Amino acid sequence: MGNTDANRRTIAACEQCGSLYAALEFSDETLRPIGRRDGCQCGCTEFTAVDGSLSEEALGGGDG
Ligand SMILES: [Zn+2]
Repeated sequence: MGNTDANRRTIAACEQCGSLYAALEFSDETLRPIGRRDGCQCGCTEFTAVDGSLSEEALGGGDG
């Protein structure tokens, strides 16, 4: 151990459509959705960090 500067895992919400993604938060507050190099499904690349109280379960649920 000792590598404490690992990117933080968080939830990111798209600023355009509000879609939620599991994301990595970088030290410069940049959010990058995991597995989505091109950003959101809507094409937006701006994301807002969502409060940590949400779990990843929120990503798979939703009633539409
Ligand atoms: Zn979007």
